[in-house]
Amino acid sequence: MKASQFLISTLKEAPADAEVVSHKLMMRAGMIKKLGAGIYNYMPMGLRVIRKVEAIVREEMNRAGAVELTMPVVQPAELWQETGRFDKMGPELLRIKDRHDRDYVVQPTSEEVVTDIARQEIKSYKQLPKNLYQIQTKFRDERRPRFGLMRGREFIMKDAYSFDRDQDAAKASYQVMAGAYRKIFDRFGLRYRAVAADSGAIGGDLSEEFQVIAATGEDAIVYCPGSEYAANMEKAEALAPAAPRAVAQAAMEKVATPGKSTCEDVAALLNVPLSTTVKSLVLSTDVLDEKGNVTKTQVWLLLLRGDHDMNEVKVGKLPGLADFRFATVPEIEAHFGCKPGYLGPIGLKQPLKIVADRDVAVMADWICGANEEDFHIRGVNWGRDLPEPDFVAALRNVVAGDASPDGKGVLAIERGIEVGHVFYLGTKYSKAMNATFLDVNGKPQFMEMGCYGIGITRLPAAAIEQNHDDKGIIWPDALAPFTVVLCPISPDRFADVKAAADTLYAELLAAGVDVILDDRNERPGAMFADWELIGVPHRVTIGDRALKEGVVEYQHRRDAEATKVPVAEIASLIR
Ligand code: ATP
Ligand code: MG
Ligand code: MG
Ligand code: MG
Repeated sequence: MKASQFLISTLKEAPADAEVVSHKLMMRAGMIKKLGAGIYNYMPMGLRVIRKVEAIVREEMNRAGAVELTMPVVQPAELWQETGRFDKMGPELLRIKDRHDRDYVVQPTSEEVVTDIARQEIKSYKQLPKNLYQIQTKFRDERRPRFGLMRGREFIMKDAYSFDRDQDAAKASYQVMAGAYRKIFDRFGLRYRAVAADSGAIGGDLSEEFQVIAATGEDAIVYCPGSEYAANMEKAEALAPAAPRAVAQAAMEKVATPGKSTCEDVAALLNVPLSTTVKSLVLSTDVLDEKGNVTKTQVWLLLLRGDHDMNEVKVGKLPGLADFRFATVPEIEAHFGCKPGYLGPIGLKQPLKIVADRDVAVMADWICGANEEDFHIRGVNWGRDLPEPDFVAALRNVVAGDASPDGKGVLAIERGIEVGHVFYLGTKYSKAMNATFLDVNGKPQFMEMGCYGIGITRLPAAAIEQNHDDKGIIWPDALAPFTVVLCPISPDRFADVKAAADTLYAELLAAGVDVILDDRNERPGAMFADWELIGVPHRVTIGDRALKEGVVEYQHRRDAEATKVPVAEIASLIR
């Protein structure tokens, strides 16, 4: 590829709504372009990365015996009614109507359709096992789309579904996938961890998430450095004794009840000493039903660290949280631009103007939340790069230093980004949709299923969270949009430079190397800045003076300096 033909559109500044580094860098490197909330154009540079992810996934899925197909993005509601998910799923499921007023959904995943295929195509045990997969657009109307491709509404997922004759066979299929996932994530060249995840009632232990390790990850993962133990926080907590959580929950309720709590309650709740001064406030909102009646009052607690730029929050001294001013529903709607009950997960996007009368002495870090499960306010961000506030940490049963359940050491906690998920389903869908096959005795049996997802478009974002510096992205070779960039210096003035660059370009292309020749005639500074931002791992600079010595300059994206390499050796160095 020649840079002059390609679409390169780098930006000096990231747009204001980009919060995390991967979002900023993907925007600045011209990899994605926002079209709407959680909806992005995959620009040519970004699409090359996505295609690399897909190629690796496809290769390993095929190698593991899975078979590719494509299912429609828009799916008739009837199938979704069969499993009950059309009604049961919340607003994350995008429901649409056609011109005849018939209901459809935009697929968030595809269990219904693939089970429908299986019940028609698979008649006999002789046709099992089967694993069908697609790499296809998904839509989830996420409550809080954010971080660019990390949590989009439209995104690409690889979703695979296994069909087996019995539980043992299904578990074997699951293990094949779990193995294939390890190969896939190894090939990406990222640091990751496979962690046990909650599989609901049916799954037993057969659910694992693949988490890319990154400080900005939304998930907390628990592992034991001395053993194999690794689980996501939910799973780890399910095993831990329930008492501390129940205590914390009770404390939380008390704190969130107007007129009931004191600073000490808050400190006890959060398990922190009464030490630093924080700016803080409490909000309460009424939750309305469809007719507008108040069904319950939610109390939101926001406690914010003192050194944040919160000049719009007034503070004073306060003995008990109950003395805070409670905001009214219209105030909350006006300030947060959302309906009560929806506030928490959206977080605070706009400057906070609801004023607390006083402040309260406690704690050390960002914390916020509500007195309702699943409505904790997470990721509150004041337009700066801040780690996700760990509100729930105080409510956790599992903390770093606890004994590992396998008795082999103590637990550590780190943050991760869920990029893949393997899941044993059992007969949940086959029963609901009557998907049977005839067994050896000619008797109909429900198919045993598993499902296996990979966030194809989330993966590049996760890779960047893990691999970047102040100049830009640093792609692992396996994911880079181009493996090597050739940067001739002033080829318009030096014929030997142009000739050497053209020759090297042709050679690398012939050797099958993914090379881009920067023939834009840019100044070296601008040219280097672009490629460092885009994150191409290998760069070869071709300059007149070095050429006269028979060398060019090679620099890996992680190298501090370039190395002189004889022209003839470049091709073998990069391959
Ligand atoms: P999350 O916990 O992040 O919401 P999930 O558990 O709902 O993800 P799954 O249903 O397990 O997601 O889907 C399989 C994979 O699809 C996930 O592991 C993730 O990598 C990816 N994925 C899910 N939701 C999104 C999204 N909104 N944007 C990008 N990728 C996503
Ligand atoms: Mg989700
Ligand atoms: Mg998840
Ligand atoms: Mg998942």
